[in-house]
Amino acid sequence: MNGNYEKLLSIISKSSGLSKGEIELKVNTKREKISGMISHEGAAQIIAAELGIAFENEKLKISDLLPGMRKVNIVGKILSVSPIRTFTTKNGQEGKVVNLVVADETGNIKVVLWDLHHIELIEKNQIANQSIVEISNGTMREEELHLGSFSEFKPSNDLINDVKTERVVKEKKISELKTGDNAAIRGFIVQTFEPRSFNVCPQCKKKVNPDGEGFVCLEHGKILEEKRFLMNFVLDDGSETTRAVAFHETLLGLGFKEMGQEAIGKHRENLLGKEMSFSGVVRLNKFFNNQEFIVSNAKEVNPDELIISLEKN
Ligand SMILES: [Zn+2]
Repeated sequence: MNGNYEKLLSIISKSSGLSKGEIELKVNTKREKISGMISHEGAAQIIAAELGIAFENEKLKISDLLPGMRKVNIVGKILSVSPIRTFTTKNGQEGKVVNLVVADETGNIKVVLWDLHHIELIEKNQIANQSIVEISNGTMREEELHLGSFSEFKPSNDLINDVKTERVVKEKKISELKTGDNAAIRGFIVQTFEPRSFNVCPQCKKKVNPDGEGFVCLEHGKILEEKRFLMNFVLDDGSETTRAVAFHETLLGLGFKEMGQEAIGKHRENLLGKEMSFSGVVRLNKFFNNQEFIVSNAKEVNPDELIISLEKN
């Protein structure tokens, strides 16, 4: 059973006064009725609607936000504001987009502004980094809160003291991973592949291709290439397996550059069967048309830490 479903149960329980058990019973009955063609989460959303629970009347905590929720209201403090990007819309007009990180005491979330009136508040500095804002009628797209012309975005007089500033990486099972997820997973390395090298531009770090005698970056022209390595491997956490890719800096501080063929082989052998925790992002590998976990951080599972986290549960 996944964490989203659990969360949904407690929100419905809080707003309806029914116990979680009673709601679960309704969810299971609903699922049986439609021959299990719907997830527990989907059935719980239907039950919420049937009970007349509209999330739109309720201010939610950021940790309660779930993919697929509509008409979301929150209050939070802005932790960062991206530069304003402009683009041309389908009907030839100028569009703008701004990304924010908004936090409350339970978590933080990426908020995406698309409405020019909202963006004007940022341009005129009426809302800026560290402002407290009230957001109404936002829509969750995957793990992000998007605001369009029907949403409200305005300064708030609420006081928020301790906001959660560290990036929240949710621990997930491999079977739950969806493209775009930032996630932490714990699993065993069950297969490793020969490290591969590629060349990047030393300035923008983008991949460069050979051109004549040297290398050319589309942005920076002729450059002196920088050699980088990556290694693909397969992770298994008992729920499923996933392909993963790590760059040498992130996988046990490995410097393939300095390693000979034999040392690399030995290192791959050592990694095999090792249990580690990884954080990163799920991307679609267009070449293989499958999901791939891009590792940004890897560390060995420390048995002591494991015991502490088990005791907490
Ligand atoms: Zn470049």
